[in-house]
Amino acid sequence: MADYDLAIIGGGLNGVGIARDAAGRGLRVILLEQGDLGAGASSASPRLIHGDLAELERRHFLRVRSALAERDVWLRIAPHVVRPARFAIPAHSDQRPPWQLRSGLLLYDKLAPRNALPLSATIDVTHHPLGNALKRPFGTAFEYSDCVVDDSRLVVLTAADAAARGAVIRTGARCTRAERGKTWRLATIDRGFRQVITARALVNATGAWTASVAETVLRVPPPKVAIMQMSQIVVRRLFDGDNVYVFQNSDGRLVFASPYERDFTLIGTAVHAFKGDPAIVAVAASDVAYLCDAANRYFRERIEAVDVVRTLSGANMVTVAARRQRDGVITLDHGRGKAPLITIFGGDITTARLRAERAVGKLTPFYPMSARWTARSPLPGGDFSWRRFDDEVDGARERWRFLDEDQARRLVGAYGTTVRAVLGDARQRGDLGPAFGPELTGAEVRYLMNHEWARFPDDVLWRRTKLGLTMPARDREALSAFMANSTAPR
Ligand SMILES: Cc1cc2nc3c(=O)[nH]c(=O)nc-3n(C[C@H](O)[C@H](O)[C@H](O)COP(=O)(O)OP(=O)(O)OC[C@H]3O[C@@H](n4cnc5c(N)ncnc54)[C@H](O)[C@@H]3O)c2cc1C
Repeated sequence: MADYDLAIIGGGLNGVGIARDAAGRGLRVILLEQGDLGAGASSASPRLIHGDLAELERRHFLRVRSALAERDVWLRIAPHVVRPARFAIPAHSDQRPPWQLRSGLLLYDKLAPRNALPLSATIDVTHHPLGNALKRPFGTAFEYSDCVVDDSRLVVLTAADAAARGAVIRTGARCTRAERGKTWRLATIDRGFRQVITARALVNATGAWTASVAETVLRVPPPKVAIMQMSQIVVRRLFDGDNVYVFQNSDGRLVFASPYERDFTLIGTAVHAFKGDPAIVAVAASDVAYLCDAANRYFRERIEAVDVVRTLSGANMVTVAARRQRDGVITLDHGRGKAPLITIFGGDITTARLRAERAVGKLTPFYPMSARWTARSPLPGGDFSWRRFDDEVDGARERWRFLDEDQARRLVGAYGTTVRAVLGDARQRGDLGPAFGPELTGAEVRYLMNHEWARFPDDVLWRRTKLGLTMPARDREALSAFMANSTAPR
């Protein structure tokens, strides 16, 4: 008998989503990730959970509708890491006419199945706080609702749920060879040790590595694909308030400027074809200039390359046929004496749960498994209504009186109700162990190492949290020493 029913190569959102779905349907699952969970394209997304106005403009109404239904699902199952926001599009005389924007947003409202979020509206920004950050000529903006997600935490929480349902999650485990017969025999280098495992079916969810893994690891004909790169920049906060600004750029693309970790603004995205090693995706100076120019057309405060405090960039594979498809593509290959192989290409964050459900559904002819379930079950810590987020924050401040408002918001936004497991019975900050910067504590780091597969400082500073943005160098060194001296379970 094979060790596992399903082995998954790749710990991005696609891989962990499939692991969660399959484990919850009763399959014995192992996931192999060569580095850290979400360290590829999944932590460099535009962080939007949305119907996607660009898809609306392409008249893909059914896709917009289905994505808006998924938006509701994410709000329900992940109310801590997925938060509603108001998006504002300043009307620009050179771009889409205001009537087109307004009618597009009315249609967007109509396509949302349950309209749980406020409807779109027209705003006179000359007399509205939204206008404060904008250049003078903008008199009108259109506001609508969508959601913002902490993408890398979504990956980790999905993996945690998969593990809670029995999936084995191995980080630092690279799959180097997969021999195909009636079952798969996988050779891995797991934290330096060679191991062999067997599985009845295999998923290639390796993002930008998909074709090279097909060719060199699975030794099957590589699919016809293109690799695309997506880049974003982080600058000091350019505006107050929680709105996301949506700018119509001169090339017709939409550029988003979102509040990021309280004191920063995230601006993205620049997208183009990518060549090279997906493990080293550097942001081109031309992408930085493109995003600064887009922001400078709208915001009063000018930004330039020197103002960029961090760049985020990822690459992923798209099939040539599906270059513009947000849903991604799933293929299944099998035959007599050929164990099933599923390959998953690209796709956005919003539709990832649905994609995982469809991918696992393709295996129903091969195994008995229980029905679809992932839309109804909250991710770890997400067992509260998104409307009660502020109550959760107040509750945390009452229970752990040493937390200030910002600290409580960050912790509830990251862990939801699981914050109890992070802070325990602490009565004062000192009970949480050493401090690394003003926010991070030994207790949180230990939790991340023990329950969320964090192994290195970057895993904590950039993916489990974003505290790397503000942590002083000497605290990073202390964190590094602390983690080196703490052992995480396998
Ligand atoms: C150009 C572009 C535009 C995008 N636009 C959007 C957008 O508008 N909205 C949106 O929501 N999303 C967008 N995305 C999508 C999003 O960022 C990700 O593509 C999505 O999260 C799915 O990622 P993934 O799991 O396929 O890949 P990844 O997150 O890259 O994960 C693949 C993982 O496989 C691992 N791996 C590779 N080889 C091996 C091996 N041999 N053994 C073990 N592990 C291995 C890698 O280390 C990596 O962690 C865009 C992506 C791109 C590239």
